[in-house]
Amino acid sequence: MTSEQVLEKAAEYLSADDTAFLREAYELARYAHREQYRRSGEPYIWHPVQVAGILVDLGMDPDTVAAAFLHDVVEDTDIGLEEIEQKFGEQVAMLVDGVTKLGKIKYKSKEEQQAENHRKMFVAMAKDIRVILIKLADRLHNMRTLKHLPPEKQRRISNETLEIFAPLAHRLGISKIKWELEDTSLRYLNPQQYYRIVNLMKKKRVERESYIEEVQELLKDRLAGMQIEADIHGRAKHIYSIYRKMVLQNKQFNEIYDLLAIRIVVKSIKDCYAVLGTIHTQWKPMPGRFKDYIAMPKANMYQSLHTTVIGPKGDPLEVQIRSEDMHKVAEFGVAAHWAYKEGKTVDDAESLETKMSWFREILEWQNNTSDAQEFMESLKIDLFSDMVFVFSPKGDVMELPKGSVPLDFAYRIHTEVGNRCIGAKVNGKMVPLDHQLKTGDIVEILTSKHSYGPSQDWLKITQSSHAKNKIRQWFKKEKRDENVEKGRDLIEKEIEKKGFTTKQVLTTDNLARVMDKFSFTTEEDMYAAVGYHGITAAQVVTRLTDTLRQEEAAAEGKTLTEAVGDLKPNQRTVQKKDKTGVKVKGIDNLMIRLSRCCNPVPGDSIVGYITKGRGVSIHRADCPNIQQEEDARLLEVDWEQQPNQSKNYDVDIEISGYDRRSLLNDVLQAVAETKTNIHAVTGKADKNKMARIDMTVSIQHTAHLQKVVDRIKQIPDIYTVRRVMH
Ligand code: MN
Repeated sequence: MTSEQVLEKAAEYLSADDTAFLREAYELARYAHREQYRRSGEPYIWHPVQVAGILVDLGMDPDTVAAAFLHDVVEDTDIGLEEIEQKFGEQVAMLVDGVTKLGKIKYKSKEEQQAENHRKMFVAMAKDIRVILIKLADRLHNMRTLKHLPPEKQRRISNETLEIFAPLAHRLGISKIKWELEDTSLRYLNPQQYYRIVNLMKKKRVERESYIEEVQELLKDRLAGMQIEADIHGRAKHIYSIYRKMVLQNKQFNEIYDLLAIRIVVKSIKDCYAVLGTIHTQWKPMPGRFKDYIAMPKANMYQSLHTTVIGPKGDPLEVQIRSEDMHKVAEFGVAAHWAYKEGKTVDDAESLETKMSWFREILEWQNNTSDAQEFMESLKIDLFSDMVFVFSPKGDVMELPKGSVPLDFAYRIHTEVGNRCIGAKVNGKMVPLDHQLKTGDIVEILTSKHSYGPSQDWLKITQSSHAKNKIRQWFKKEKRDENVEKGRDLIEKEIEKKGFTTKQVLTTDNLARVMDKFSFTTEEDMYAAVGYHGITAAQVVTRLTDTLRQEEAAAEGKTLTEAVGDLKPNQRTVQKKDKTGVKVKGIDNLMIRLSRCCNPVPGDSIVGYITKGRGVSIHRADCPNIQQEEDARLLEVDWEQQPNQSKNYDVDIEISGYDRRSLLNDVLQAVAETKTNIHAVTGKADKNKMARIDMTVSIQHTAHLQKVVDRIKQIPDIYTVRRVMH
């Protein structure tokens, strides 16, 4: 179609003013693209004119057609959205903007779930259904001119068309566009099969057409007798649908194509049923093949009567019967509902909303096998509008409940990613963890293996039940495992400290006695309680060892008090040896210092590093600064058995949270409650109300540090607590 033909066709259903408005849009587009050419060598303006032509064929409103003329202007030329809004109004500018934004979504073919999410996101982003109609018309024309592109591009675009655009057209009920998109895609993706089917269809055509003619003749007379005006057509099967049946059902071409099909279009619903009656008396209906989509429309509003009868030659004959209005909906789908009608404007907000929610329901619920019951279900629930679709940095799309925050996204990726989350970037910018995600956002999660895991606040700010469950699980399980392990460790150390071995002490008898004494049901419960400081290791071990000590004391003729007294002097001598609290296996008199980069404290697993001339520096085993070092310079070291109660170690922690009044005060007070000294503290907040507090605290051992961290995490609005490594 030339631009004049498009405008003439529009004038058939639009007013003179509207047509003049479209001409203006065309003129601006022509000016904007004046120096651009398509790969085919044609002036670029040819493309938007064809896109506008497709939409005029669908009978779309003036704003949509104007936006079609202008759809590539903002992306490809100097003319901006403001100018379009000034000249053509808010609606046209909104539509052009929508098409431009959709154009930026990059689709990488993956599995079906990803394709489905992309389709949904497409719709969610489009906001106005007309944006999708323009995009479909745009894609249709690009497919028609695909031969001018290099082969790899042809394949990539065809694939995308088949996975994203054709299903969208289908769900919108625009079968006309859907079929052409599918057939053209197949031509590039599997040319051998495509041309084979085309040739087979050609060969069969004469035979088929004469048969249809015969049926037509028979029906015409009967219907004329009943005074029913009817259009009777042979129904062409589409190449792609034949191809799919051959591939999916593993059928031969003849098995599919022998099924003859006609379509009868009449004036009214009454006539539809009258025609059905005539056909069923003329030919024998095949059982189970009659479907009344008039009484029960399909989810995409498709209406028709379907039946299969044993035709004049004894072969099955498929018949579709529908009214002219129904036929329009069958071909144009949602576009038929949106077609421009005088006096009915599309910016009527209420009807727009109704149409959009109806449309979302279709997308959510309709699938190829949808039946009447499913359709009724779909009217009750509107899940889709409660979703947002966001990207991972790799381009995967995730569907999340509306109001979701980066933490929901993190847990969706992986539970560990969620548990170790310390921050997030949305579209490249740092955001607080309670930042609400919007459809189309690119979300990047920052993790640290030194994170202390979820805080209570996370349960409040997350939206998805998935994330909430994982967080609750963490509090229950991970925490318990950790405590059990810690408790076991503390008890074993306490046993050694008292001069026994675990083998001597941890006997079934001893354990049963102690568990009974403290009312623990399992051994693990006991360790967990110690790990959680519900009870001290010393209390437990004293009980565990009392029989042993009594026996020993009896053997040596000493009282229990005397026996306990014996243990103490030994330990004091060990203590004095080394101020760092660290001992190096088999070597005395080494210069030892604790490294400042990772600030180890008793309880951390540690490694010694032999420096050049400055003795041994002690790092945490997971400190990144020693990971690269050669083994020869690393030394096995351990903490002294008995922690020196007066010795404190500096530990740097980083705390993040929502920047509210007195957050810092609450943190300082919480730390004070644990009787912990603070050596340094700095606080700052960014404009997103994200607060960060850096603090150096004076710590005795890991259990002490854990207590401080746990206390901080109970403060409302605290997101993360992290031990810092430099
Ligand atoms: Mn385009």
